[in-house]
Amino acid sequence: MANGEIAKRLREIRASLRAETDLIAVSKFHPIEAIAEAYEAGQRDFGESRVQELMVKAPALPGDIRWHFIGHLQTNKVRQAVEFAQMIQSVDSLKLMNLIDREAGKIGKQVDILLQVHVAAEETKTGFLPDELKAAATEAMKLGHIRLRGVMGMATNTDDEARIRQDFHKIKECFDELSKIVSREDFDTISMGMSDDRDLALSEGSTMVRIGSDIFGNREY
Ligand SMILES: *Cc1c(COP(=O)(O)O)cnc(C)c1O
Repeated sequence: MANGEIAKRLREIRASLRAETDLIAVSKFHPIEAIAEAYEAGQRDFGESRVQELMVKAPALPGDIRWHFIGHLQTNKVRQAVEFAQMIQSVDSLKLMNLIDREAGKIGKQVDILLQVHVAAEETKTGFLPDELKAAATEAMKLGHIRLRGVMGMATNTDDEARIRQDFHKIKECFDELSKIVSREDFDTISMGMSDDRDLALSEGSTMVRIGSDIFGNREY
């Protein structure tokens, strides 16, 4: 992309969001230079979905960046994810949650986590089913090296706005239900909404959007 384009896009997106909405710049598959440009423009929260990439990028970029891990996390890569990420948004099993707690304990760190909720129609997407969430939250509260901050989810990949809205509504409902048992002020995060569906997500109660292509352009897979 042309020089200054990332900064310009970031400014436009930031201006369209309420001040209290968190913006995660999803930098997966984009080079370090692109992240550096976003950083220069004031962005501090970045999202990555592969541990291999996170491990290369994090040490090469400023230390005050907050890295959010947003991809499916394999159990054999938990150690590295915990080392570099401030928040792991894609916690989708009790086993993974316990491993994160254990690895964080080993390095004396506390890692923020979100429980990923599966509401989309696609079987391939991962996450807890809504009725599994309470047990997961109860377990999370027993663990000293993770801090449960909220939920993350994705809507069905469809043009059907009603379905997308329904999925986001369900994620918000899950958050509200969990709020009754996790009655802490820092249980405050509903991470939903990407480049194409962020307005719908925000109107359904999102507090954190994860935007990739609208900031960095198209990814080359
Ligand atoms: C890639 C990705 C995003 C960003 O998607 P865009 O459509 O590029 O904005 C957000 N969340 C997750 C979990 C992702 O994997």
